[in-house]
Amino acid sequence: KDQFSSSRLYTARTWKDGNPVPYKFLSDAFSKVEEISGRLEIQAILTEVFRNIIASTPEDLVPAIYLCINKLAPAHEGIELGIGESILMKALSQVSGRTVSALKALYKKVGDLGDVALAARTNQKTMFPPPPLTVRRVFQEFKAIAAITGKSTQDAKRGKIVKLLVAASTTEAKYVSRAVLGKLRIHLADKTVIAALSAALTLEELGVKTDILLTADGKKKTKMTSKEEDIEETLGAAAEVLGSVYSQCPVWDVIIPKLLELKTIDSRLQAMCKLMPGIPVSPMLAKPTKAISEVLERFAETSFTCEFKYDGERAQVHRLEDGSIRIYSRNAENLTPKYPDLVDSLPKALHTEYKGASFIIDAEAVAYDVQKKQILPFQELQGRKRKDVEAHEVTVKVCIFAFDLLFFNGESLIGESLTSRREKLLNGFQEQEGQFLFAKGEDSRDPEDIMSLLNRSIKEGCEGLMVKALDGDNSTYEPNNRSQNWLKVKKDYLEGCGDSLDLVPIGGYLGRGKRAGIYGAFLLACYDPDTEEYQSICKIGTGFSEEALDNFAKFFNDPEAENKSEGAKSYYRTPALKTLEPDVWFEPVQVWEVKCADLSISPQHTAATGLVDPEKGIALRFPRFIRLREDKKPDEATNSEQVAEFYMRQSSVANNV
Ligand code: ATP
Repeated sequence: KDQFSSSRLYTARTWKDGNPVPYKFLSDAFSKVEEISGRLEIQAILTEVFRNIIASTPEDLVPAIYLCINKLAPAHEGIELGIGESILMKALSQVSGRTVSALKALYKKVGDLGDVALAARTNQKTMFPPPPLTVRRVFQEFKAIAAITGKSTQDAKRGKIVKLLVAASTTEAKYVSRAVLGKLRIHLADKTVIAALSAALTLEELGVKTDILLTADGKKKTKMTSKEEDIEETLGAAAEVLGSVYSQCPVWDVIIPKLLELKTIDSRLQAMCKLMPGIPVSPMLAKPTKAISEVLERFAETSFTCEFKYDGERAQVHRLEDGSIRIYSRNAENLTPKYPDLVDSLPKALHTEYKGASFIIDAEAVAYDVQKKQILPFQELQGRKRKDVEAHEVTVKVCIFAFDLLFFNGESLIGESLTSRREKLLNGFQEQEGQFLFAKGEDSRDPEDIMSLLNRSIKEGCEGLMVKALDGDNSTYEPNNRSQNWLKVKKDYLEGCGDSLDLVPIGGYLGRGKRAGIYGAFLLACYDPDTEEYQSICKIGTGFSEEALDNFAKFFNDPEAENKSEGAKSYYRTPALKTLEPDVWFEPVQVWEVKCADLSISPQHTAATGLVDPEKGIALRFPRFIRLREDKKPDEATNSEQVAEFYMRQSSVANNV
């Protein structure tokens, strides 16, 4: 079999075909990935890893993929390891014979617990070494750790980690440690896995080497033969198909067996792994706009509709073949236990002729005053319990405002135009006052009509408008995409910087005077998914209620919760100025919505460094706290590219370009 020709990347297969894949094979690949920065080279390493596994032990492909992306299951299953630094520290202490305080000192020096594990394991010799770790065992043990609940959970989890660490070689210990903390730090996201997996199958089918399109130093070949050009095109097409399959059915356990059966990637895979109720689709997102004239410009050639932008939480409502209802959040979290009342009432919204139909509706769940038939502010929704609640106990009533239909009666609709999907929504369902209503809107391109609709939306308790392409190819539903074909127009975009930002508090400044004993201000950061870093963007002390400040102090100071960090994390890009250094560093655990007057180039802050200015970052001016965003995880915060976009779109900057 053709092997990888570049010796730097060559990954020898050390096990017999059919035998379990050693975990060392994967952790060695992780080490190599960590050494290099070129995307294509990283992708090639992963491609080679997958090719070897497919050729020898295909049943290990699913666990290998999950270990590469550091997940245990698809997001909607909500399975997490739940390991904090202190459990790992104790486990490492037990395995290495070093005290926790010695390990802490080492941690402070090297800044990464994986590297602490590496250093701590170096001199360990075991009399009777346990059998080497395998990919499937590590994955099974991780799942077993996640499944531990009830009393003395921490000890039981620690016991399992110790067993893994004892059996681990040094590099393995490093990646096991990082993985249990949820920070593998090798930047292998779904996108890279999709590219590598489609390349693995395609190159195997074509019978060519993995690095056929790369130069000896891992760059893309600039001069290609026509055969190589064809290969590049085939690879691109395969990755596109697999990407589209994954966005509709983001479950490797479903996709991989079909892939292995087909041994190639083509439209048959799309037919085999379709959108289905019970598996949440990554939602389509919108781009911000600053003026109605901008909307008209963007949609100059396209018909569009303007809908109210409701201010609640995104709810993807699924009805499965068996008639059961599930409700998922924007990041695939199962919210069904939060909405027992909706579970009872939603099937009634189906027209009688479709009584048994399965469906996936995209909607917003909004707190609602049933008597007054009025939308209530977002804060009311926060008062709703998240679980362990019976339908009759619900105090905060919620109404679903449906705006899209992605699946109906056994059929996926996402390839259809919005006009067609909307027609099916209106024909298939009927409004149920106070429980299920259609999003209000108008199909007008007259700026005055749009302005008055915008004003009406605000008056009725909404945030503004969502403007969406109605017909043709650009009006399909685009899962997992922030699309130009959906634009958001918020009333307060029309002034200020455009949109609000969602940022992560990474440190706190101790308060003085009235704020003594609590935090008076915080250091906020955006997230850069390419480097997996949090980059500082501003110090914020405005917009907080006293209650909010008290709550944040409690939250970050709670000793049980371990939300404080002993220093700045190695993946924080902190402000250049010493005086901006917070008194207390935090773990990246929350997301806050923040508004500002504008954005400026900053020599102090590090957000989006290199994207607008080669050395300086971007900072928010006059930031104001709006609210805590419980529906976003820290790595879903506004990313560096968006920060750069916000900066560039400001009229003061845009006019000078
Ligand atoms: P992000 O900041 O990542 O874009 P967000 O959650 O802050 O996400 P916005 O971009 O401000 O949301 O707006 C899109 C959100 O608006 C949707 O995710 C949805 O929850 C909500 N929404 C309310 N009404 C509608 C509607 N008619 N059509 C689509 N989305 C709507």
